[in-house]
Amino acid sequence: MSSVEPVKDTTRSVAEHRGDFPILARPMNDRPLAFLDSAASAQKPECVIEAEARCYREYYANIHRGVYQLSQRSTDAYERARGKVAELLNAPDAREVVFVRGTTEAINLVAWSFVRPRLGPGDEILITGMEHHSNIVPWQLVCEETGAKLVVSPVTDDGEVDLEDFRARLGPRTKFASVVHVSNALGTINPVAEMVAAAQAADVPTLVDGAQAVPHGGADVQAIGCDFYCFSGHKLYGPSGIGALWGRYELLRHMRPYQGGGEMIRYVTFEKSAFAAPPQRFEAGTPNIAGAIGLGVAVDYVRAIGLERIGAHEGELLEYATARLREIDGLRIIGNAREKAGVISFVLDGVHPHDIGTILDQEGVAIRAGHHCAQPVMDRFGVPATVRASFGLYNTREDVDALVNALYRVKEFFG
Ligand code: PMP
Repeated sequence: MSSVEPVKDTTRSVAEHRGDFPILARPMNDRPLAFLDSAASAQKPECVIEAEARCYREYYANIHRGVYQLSQRSTDAYERARGKVAELLNAPDAREVVFVRGTTEAINLVAWSFVRPRLGPGDEILITGMEHHSNIVPWQLVCEETGAKLVVSPVTDDGEVDLEDFRARLGPRTKFASVVHVSNALGTINPVAEMVAAAQAADVPTLVDGAQAVPHGGADVQAIGCDFYCFSGHKLYGPSGIGALWGRYELLRHMRPYQGGGEMIRYVTFEKSAFAAPPQRFEAGTPNIAGAIGLGVAVDYVRAIGLERIGAHEGELLEYATARLREIDGLRIIGNAREKAGVISFVLDGVHPHDIGTILDQEGVAIRAGHHCAQPVMDRFGVPATVRASFGLYNTREDVDALVNALYRVKEFFG
């Protein structure tokens, strides 16, 4: 597939695109909003909001079945969005992109359609100790059904994967490995190409959870070499309720459907049904049509700015924030990997993260406080929760300064 790069918009610095996000112009408690929670969900630029609205206003109809013009226009726009996602991930073929609700659904789809039929008692699934719950619980469910076992490669004190340990756990019983590309709780960027190569050497198929990686620099599925890759639209400045699973066509072709219903069949009789080819086989029912179209526009938007530029901008903010947070007495950063994306987790002596979050909110600083759907990571570092600041393309050093100033207020308050 030839990759068509959208025209690059390099006349503005990355952060100058802040003005594209209407919500960021709304004050919070009479202050400018410092939105530092993009790892949970990113804000939306006007072009994405408008694309969804225009779909509903101008050409909305159900897709694939209609013979009338509106349905054909909707279908074309939906399928064009699939092509854009394929280009974003450097997928060889747009038919390898399945639209799903998000990363969670993508992992569940692979767990039930690909992995479940290959598992028997005593077989193993390998993950790392820094997975999001959505890359733990689906595997526990298939393990419960089959008598297979979940094996975890632990995280080092710095919050990194230990490649030697990971390699050593790939044994004759390992049937699948599923690993996170960028940790949402620690910010660690994992050496996924090396991990996938290690799995391949042991004949183990792989999935990479790209929920935090795609927005912070992008991903190339051919360079990584994995069998499945997934991400969520809402973290990539796109709508919520839409995301994508990429899978090798040869694998998708032999997989059973994940759900049954309309849109995914070739024919149905009461005796038997025959299924459509991928990707339709995995898209039962009416999909999130406007959401997919909005995601396509979000993909155009980030590619026009340049995902590498976005990654570099967030990297600079991370460096600045790390230095400034280290100045604060009693503050401990959780996760000090050598390679990190724009996520910084920390705890402050004697103050619960939820109290910090509440005070920060009053100062117009939006951060996340909690376990970040990664309770095993919290257990590993012996904390119940952390405060997490995460960066998007629209963040600036002023946002970091607002966070640091507000943290000094927290310290004053708790004396
Ligand atoms: N994996 C990671 C690393 C994540 O950060 C998240 C979202 N916090 C998910 C999976 C789940 O994504 P979603 O809720 O969009 O399905």
